[in-house]
Amino acid sequence: MYMNIHFIFLQSQIISHYKAKEVTNPKEEKMAESKENQASMHQEVGHKSLLQSDALYQYILETSVYPREPEAMKELREITAKHPWNIMTTSADEGQFLNMLLKLINAKNTMEIGVYTGYSLLATALALPDDGKILAMDINRENYELGLPVIEKAGVAHKIDFRVGPALPVLDQMIEDGKYHGSFDFIFVDADKDNYINYHKRLVDLVKVGGVIGYDNTLWNGSVAAPPDAPMRKYIRYYRDFVLELNKALAADPRIEICQLPVGDGITLCRRTT
Ligand code: SAM
Ligand code: CA
Repeated sequence: MYMNIHFIFLQSQIISHYKAKEVTNPKEEKMAESKENQASMHQEVGHKSLLQSDALYQYILETSVYPREPEAMKELREITAKHPWNIMTTSADEGQFLNMLLKLINAKNTMEIGVYTGYSLLATALALPDDGKILAMDINRENYELGLPVIEKAGVAHKIDFRVGPALPVLDQMIEDGKYHGSFDFIFVDADKDNYINYHKRLVDLVKVGGVIGYDNTLWNGSVAAPPDAPMRKYIRYYRDFVLELNKALAADPRIEICQLPVGDGITLCRRTT
């Protein structure tokens, strides 16, 4: 009932866009695009960072991220890079950020919505204490199983309770049950953007006071600041309105403090205050 048909359609859009890119000469494509769209194209950026300098982003990765990336995360990143949907993975710098954040807040009981091959999940699992827990949800088990051997080898699989299926009914069940209210230290949301508002309604109850919810991709490839008539990929345009609505709703929500960071594709941290 909650299965998101748009997501499947748009996922195929993302994939076909990137497949199409593979067979095009990127230089020619860039030149054609810049001639056609110079005036109106929003500043579309690489999907791994919103920094306006690729060289600066590369500097961060090479100086501070890759040298400190745990071996298991490197292995999972390399496996994921070969997967056709690899555009969806969390970037290495964001993985490092999540890992650090979880340690800073001493997170123990966490949730992740949107696992894919598990890069952010592994960043989380490595940060939690040995008796830490992650309730991880995704509609796709196959991709999770691609990364699972690496997670097992890293000795952190026992922290993960993976549930296949849409997340919303699971959240509803937990709300109804009652015992999960205020029980999560950290929740990472990185799934169907058109459901983020629905997730937020439930997650504010499930996260503890002082706990943090992180909504990923809240800058949505920079499109949130583009003029409405700027040319955009179909999936960017489709989800853009949902991301704009979410950003407004989070900024107006008196139950949380927020901080929107330009890490990866933008992450908004929400700290529950009441
Ligand atoms: N956090 C992941 C990582 O680090 O690689 C990336 C997640 S990817 C951007 C989004 C994921 O959300 C996909 O794997 C997709 O199957 C999942 N998803 C989409 N709709 C969902 C839903 N309703 N419930 C749970 N997961 C969903
Ligand atoms: Ca993401």
